[in-house]
Amino acid sequence: MNLHEYQAKGLFERHQIPIPRGCTAASPQEAHRAAAELGGTRWVVKAQVHAGGRGKAGGVVLVDSPEQVQSAAARLLGSRLVTHQSGPEGLPVDRVLVESPTAIARELYLGVLVDRAARRVAFMASSDGGMDIEQVAAATPERILVTHVDPAAGLQPWQCRRLGFGLGLQGGQIKALAGLMERLYRLFSECDASLVEVNPLVVTEAGELLALDAKINLDDNALSRHPELAALRDLAQEDPRESEARAHELSYISLDGNIGCMVNGAGLAMATMDLVKLHGGAPANFLDVGGGTTAARVAEAFKLILSDPKVSAVLVNIFGGIVRCDLIAEGIIAAVREVHVGVPVVVRLEGTNAAAGLAMLAESRLPIETAASLREAADKVVAAALGGQR
Ligand code: GDP
Ligand code: MN
Repeated sequence: MNLHEYQAKGLFERHQIPIPRGCTAASPQEAHRAAAELGGTRWVVKAQVHAGGRGKAGGVVLVDSPEQVQSAAARLLGSRLVTHQSGPEGLPVDRVLVESPTAIARELYLGVLVDRAARRVAFMASSDGGMDIEQVAAATPERILVTHVDPAAGLQPWQCRRLGFGLGLQGGQIKALAGLMERLYRLFSECDASLVEVNPLVVTEAGELLALDAKINLDDNALSRHPELAALRDLAQEDPRESEARAHELSYISLDGNIGCMVNGAGLAMATMDLVKLHGGAPANFLDVGGGTTAARVAEAFKLILSDPKVSAVLVNIFGGIVRCDLIAEGIIAAVREVHVGVPVVVRLEGTNAAAGLAMLAESRLPIETAASLREAADKVVAAALGGQR
């Protein structure tokens, strides 16, 4: 789960990580008021969306009067911001963050993430922070410094000093960085985050370190331990089908292809997607209905897949181990009867009560094709998606 910048900065503040002064606003009038409250003569207005790259997309604006704060907010609020991370549709801007501007001497990058390959939490830092960090990582990876934290020993002062010197920091800044890294590490661990990123971490003209931007990704699997963080979820920023799936405890991830896949078990779902690809098709989604699924769950999964306008055929691949194939067949039949299914459906059932399930599908007289093997199923669904069927 992603947090907004303003939410991440709220957590930063609680962990005593220095951030610019700011207030959020959901209307242009509120933004005007926020500017007046902050005082000063210049302000930064920042669109709050779950995507980076806002600076380059016009989502971060520097202005000189409360009226300009208001008009910048009026332009951003209610619009969809398209950045290189948001996808072509962009993301809705329902809130802006109004901040007092910072006089920047240097823009650094500092990130904390789980390095799966190393099986450790890693800190990454670069003196080339700011809006082109992806390019730096791609073109000059040697300019990214990395240090891994031993989970038993915790973050060590020498690691912070090494990054500090590597970033070209001096004197008290090294100490400031060490304190900041320690607090970031505590925040990262306490929140069960998978990523905390400060880009840019700035050195101000006064020589101080300040988190000018903040990004936090939380580990969904640990969210149940953090109801107060789970409450920060902003559904407007998320794929509505993925939210719907979560409500029904289905693991669903939408993809770019046109073949809807309904499978029980994540491993089988991956294998199914591979086979669809191998036969020249492209999956529209990853969907694991779970091991002990029910007819009702299958019906929900069906509706979910069909709500995606890209889907031009559906492949159901169920292996009945714990689950009974006749119950799955019942779910498929109920779903196909309930929702208008305008696309071909290919079903492969294998395992417990498969024969009974296939017989039920045949007797239903619904336009459902069955397949005896996964290979045949993939073949049939790819042909069907190409428009060969109806
Ligand atoms: P992102 O593009 O979505 O990552 O948004 P950021 O919050 O990182 O802002 C993008 C860029 O705007 C930063 O790299 C800065 O160069 C600039 N910026 C943001 N806030 C300030 C500020 O207070 N003062 C100045 N001078 N520049 C700022
Ligand atoms: Mn940024």
